[in-house]
Amino acid sequence: MKVLKNISVLKKAINNISSLGFVPTMGGLHNGHISLIKESKKKCKKTIVSIYINPKQFNNKKDFSNYPRNLIKDLNLLKKINPDYVFLPTTKEMYKNNNKKKIILLKSDKILCAKMRKGHFEGVLNIMHRFIKLIKPKYIFMGEKDFQQLYLVKKFIKNRYKCKIYSCKTIRDKNYIALSTRNFLLSKKDLNIVGKISRILKNARQKIKRTNSPFLYLNILKKKLVKQFKIKIDYLELCNDHNLQESNPKKKYRIMIAFYIKKVRLIDNF
Ligand code: AMP
Repeated sequence: MKVLKNISVLKKAINNISSLGFVPTMGGLHNGHISLIKESKKKCKKTIVSIYINPKQFNNKKDFSNYPRNLIKDLNLLKKINPDYVFLPTTKEMYKNNNKKKIILLKSDKILCAKMRKGHFEGVLNIMHRFIKLIKPKYIFMGEKDFQQLYLVKKFIKNRYKCKIYSCKTIRDKNYIALSTRNFLLSKKDLNIVGKISRILKNARQKIKRTNSPFLYLNILKKKLVKQFKIKIDYLELCNDHNLQESNPKKKYRIMIAFYIKKVRLIDNF
């Protein structure tokens, strides 16, 4: 595992690799990230993992400064999985060149997290564009846990770059909690609540199947969750898998949620 700390070292190391798999991360690694790396190692000759907390995708300064960071732990974990390269860029280098074309989301895509976190996905797409130009991967491995991100990045790179996105299933713990770096900010008690909410939403799919008024059911459920667990819900919606528009559950759909437990914002989909 080679650790690459700047762009010139990166360019030399990955020059001429035809089957390069890329796993972008913001560190705070857990088994969700590890599953993507394993998938890349299976599919590609070489694998590169980036650890970079992109300031431009944070719409809130406090959220950025509170985001869990533990590079030594991350590198120790990575050593066990042994990807070929770990890229640790600096903000100065990543944003050295100005992006002339502004990234603008379609009005129809300004939903869910794009509506609640202004500029967030523009920041994500901006950094993905920079990474792809530098790394030129064949495949990028991303998690369904961040389903809207996956949808928007797929759409953004289609017809723009040669690489393909490979989507990976959400990894959960034994209490059905989706692994997330932000979980490191939660107490045991809070995590217990997250587990309960996750199971309720998993079971909600069965109930939605049986009811004639799924939207009403979800609205009542939303109110119940807020009251029972004292959480703030940014959204709880039924969205179709295809373009994330609000959807009747007759089509392939997901229950999408974003909520705050204390001051920590979590997202998931079921
Ligand atoms: P992050 O470090 O949170 O930016 O995540 C980096 C990548 O890991 C993204 O593609 C995420 O969707 C993915 N990821 C995060 N959590 C999970 C999880 N529990 N299961 C699968 N993939 C995940």
